[in-house]
Amino acid sequence: MIPLLELSAAHPVHTAWRGLPADQQPAWPDPAALDAAAATLSRSLPLVMPRECDTLKSRLAAVARGEAFLVQGGDCAEALDTVNATSISRTADTLQQLASVFGYMMSLPVVTVARMAGQYAKPRSRDTETRDGVELPAYRGDAVNGHPFTAADRAPDPHRLVRAYHTSAATLNLVRAYGAGEQSRPEHVLTALRQFTVASRACERHEALTEEIERVGGFTGTGDGWHTPGELFMSHEGLLLDYESALARVDAATGRAYATSGHLLWIGERTRRLDGAHVEFFSRIGNPVAVKIGPNTGVDDVLALIERLSPDGEPGRLTLVARMGAGKVREVLPDLVEKVTAEGLPVAWVCDPMHGNTVSAPSGHKTRRFDDVVDELVGFFEVLRGVGAHPGGVHLELTGDDVTECVGGGAGVDYSDLPRRYRSLCDPRLNRDQSLALAFRLAELLAVAPGAGGALR
Ligand code: PEP
Ligand code: MN
Repeated sequence: MIPLLELSAAHPVHTAWRGLPADQQPAWPDPAALDAAAATLSRSLPLVMPRECDTLKSRLAAVARGEAFLVQGGDCAEALDTVNATSISRTADTLQQLASVFGYMMSLPVVTVARMAGQYAKPRSRDTETRDGVELPAYRGDAVNGHPFTAADRAPDPHRLVRAYHTSAATLNLVRAYGAGEQSRPEHVLTALRQFTVASRACERHEALTEEIERVGGFTGTGDGWHTPGELFMSHEGLLLDYESALARVDAATGRAYATSGHLLWIGERTRRLDGAHVEFFSRIGNPVAVKIGPNTGVDDVLALIERLSPDGEPGRLTLVARMGAGKVREVLPDLVEKVTAEGLPVAWVCDPMHGNTVSAPSGHKTRRFDDVVDELVGFFEVLRGVGAHPGGVHLELTGDDVTECVGGGAGVDYSDLPRRYRSLCDPRLNRDQSLALAFRLAELLAVAPGAGGALR
């Protein structure tokens, strides 16, 4: 059957959120220009199809049941002006390599999701930024304004929404081509892992695990036949409701609305208020969705979010992404997981070990320490296993490029190295070696004995 997607302006997916408190929306200086951009997007093609979103939902249902593991990662903020095919390819590669290590470590099939092809909008802690007495609007992501600190760049420009859409389409096009090509084959992934191991400072320690992953054939393509090598879904924070709503379509076959800007959308820590526009919009789309949960989230908030976003308990619909910080995860998370588990609610639990561990380097750069990231992940595994729940996955800010944004890890980036290749427009990412070092280190700390085929569950 040919899927038919309709744009029906009166559908509640487009209307119900309007008028509700919408945090973190730009102060667009020209409302008519915003309307024009939204109208252009409304007439544009969908980037993803409902059926693909449903496939991802079925994968995430397996994660929630404890039968699969999610590897999600990519840029904090994609950049319209510097987007390039090499970086996209390297990040997609890095995710496949991570999937291989985590798959072996967990002895589970892996669902791989990129923060890519739509990650162009950022929530900010302040509306403005002041430098040398000059105050300008804060940078809110390339879909809103430019990063350079000039009045012209920082003015929100709705035409950027249309550019973000087109660049997301082009990114998706490349990712789909890679997925169908050579580079997603298990042999390619294994060669890359071998190269990492040989070059790594901890070569001897990594050797045994690498050999085991080679022995089982890279661990992708397993999992009752459903994990296709190269399968990579796209995700971003669904922050800008004018953008998301303009790209929502109704699947004529089912009458269900979908966000067609990406397969999985998440609500950030700063926009998940229960009476807000984001929760309302998300409650009306059929995609798999996620919510970030920070250290101040109460049990009642989590239960209410589950009720709003997944009232029918549809398997795979809702993923909770805990981002507590290394110092808090062991203290705050157990109660939340225990209560949700006790209610029998079918959500997937995933750890974002990045956003609770951001620190300022002596140079002033925003950074994260590799050891803190590892520590939060270990804490997450301890907590989930301690209450008999499934540690369902990781959500990382990473890039396949050789950046110097986080400190520590295999590549030994130091505070003094940060200015050398600090490219992120927003938060610091793990580079490719740090990402792989993280997966190997975790496997080591959680005592996955080579040969045990992943002793973790
Ligand atoms: C992010 O994922 O880049 C982000 C802003 O996260 P959080 O909402 O968890 O702060
Ligand atoms: Mn971030």
